[in-house]
Amino acid sequence: MNNQKAKKNLIEISVIGSGIAGITTAFHLSKKGYKVNLIDPNINSEIKILSPKNGTQAALGVLMGNIYKRSKGKAFMLRNKSMKLWKEWLIEIDYLESNIKLEKPLIKLANSEKEYQSMIEISKNKKEYGIELLSKNSLELWSSNFEKTLIGGLISHEDGRLNPIKLIKSLMLKLDEMKVNKIEDHVIKISKNRNIFNKSWRIDLNSKQYLNQDYIVLCSALNTQKLLKPLGHEILLEPILGQVIELELKNPNSNWHQWPAILNYQSINFIHHKPNHILMGATIESGTVASLSHKQKMLNMNNIAPSWIKEAIICNEWNGIRARPKNEAAPLLKEFEPGLLINTGHYRNGILLAPSCAEWIGLKIENNKN
Ligand SMILES: Cc1cc2nc3c(=O)[nH]c(=O)nc-3n(C[C@H](O)[C@H](O)[C@H](O)COP(=O)(O)OP(=O)(O)OC[C@H]3O[C@@H](n4cnc5c(N)ncnc54)[C@H](O)[C@@H]3O)c2cc1C
Repeated sequence: MNNQKAKKNLIEISVIGSGIAGITTAFHLSKKGYKVNLIDPNINSEIKILSPKNGTQAALGVLMGNIYKRSKGKAFMLRNKSMKLWKEWLIEIDYLESNIKLEKPLIKLANSEKEYQSMIEISKNKKEYGIELLSKNSLELWSSNFEKTLIGGLISHEDGRLNPIKLIKSLMLKLDEMKVNKIEDHVIKISKNRNIFNKSWRIDLNSKQYLNQDYIVLCSALNTQKLLKPLGHEILLEPILGQVIELELKNPNSNWHQWPAILNYQSINFIHHKPNHILMGATIESGTVASLSHKQKMLNMNNIAPSWIKEAIICNEWNGIRARPKNEAAPLLKEFEPGLLINTGHYRNGILLAPSCAEWIGLKIENNKN
């Protein structure tokens, strides 16, 4: 170990929450050479049987990084950086057991003339990002699939999907390899250490144990506000449910081989999941309890659901909570005081934005040290 790395290894950082924000923050900080603890009561749980799932376990993993109107500003920079970093990181976390890869491309179909006009603009401005208007031929295919004459659509060759379950598995394997210390516990309190000879921060765990740390990074979604409040720091997050339905189709669809990794239509993401199975996912309601009417709304697709969806059988369904900032734009990347940072409130795009947000945290800590 060189001198600088050895020094960094003496700096101890606890990342609280092992959703995608926490896992990627732990991964990035550990790569930088810090001594990292990752704390979550469900850190070792089998994802498939977890209910409720955290936001990451419930997600579809759609990356709409390039198919985006803006070409400047914070949101654009975060997306752009993340798409580059995901490409690099996927090479580093490529394990046979998880077989994670970016499934491409993504197709978005227009809902209205207004949306189509905006798509024409995007296709002109974002050519170098792999965005194209759909050809007439492929529009015919989608019109026949959805039993509706469609006006237009975009294909994004570099956007697509990272399967969240495979992604978590890969990243967790990497964290083990990098010797990140995983702590299966619930953080009940964080406080400043009074004893100046100790590290600056104290974390109290449900098991009555405690840790003294140089830095704390909160990635605990809705719970972040509870942990911050006793320290006099306020953030406002509200729960917005995301729902996923898995459908088994009655009749075989001969067009499956032409389906992209992600098809987005009527603000719903469709994923051809396995032969004759399709996942449908959308953000449709606020609160923490899913209602039947919202599920029905997604299945009806604003009253234009094609017959193959109407006839399909629901064979699985789940939901998860997205933490949305109330008074400011997502995500929340902040340093409240030296050594106390947050990386949370990602709302819809936590998987997409995870790498650039983790990098932001790394840069903040790096700058503090100098
Ligand atoms: C149905 C659905 C579909 C989605 N689809 C997409 C998509 O296609 N693409 C995309 O980019 N995003 C998508 N999202 C959004 C994305 O999943 C979230 O933005 C992201 O997962 C948020 O990650 P997170 O790490 O901030 O939070 P979470 O994944 O919710 O993780 C927070 C973690 O903090 C832990 N925690 C909380 N309190 C404590 C405490 N006191 N002590 C220790 N640990 C604690 C929890 O146990 C939890 O594991 C979707 C979300 C849902 C629900």
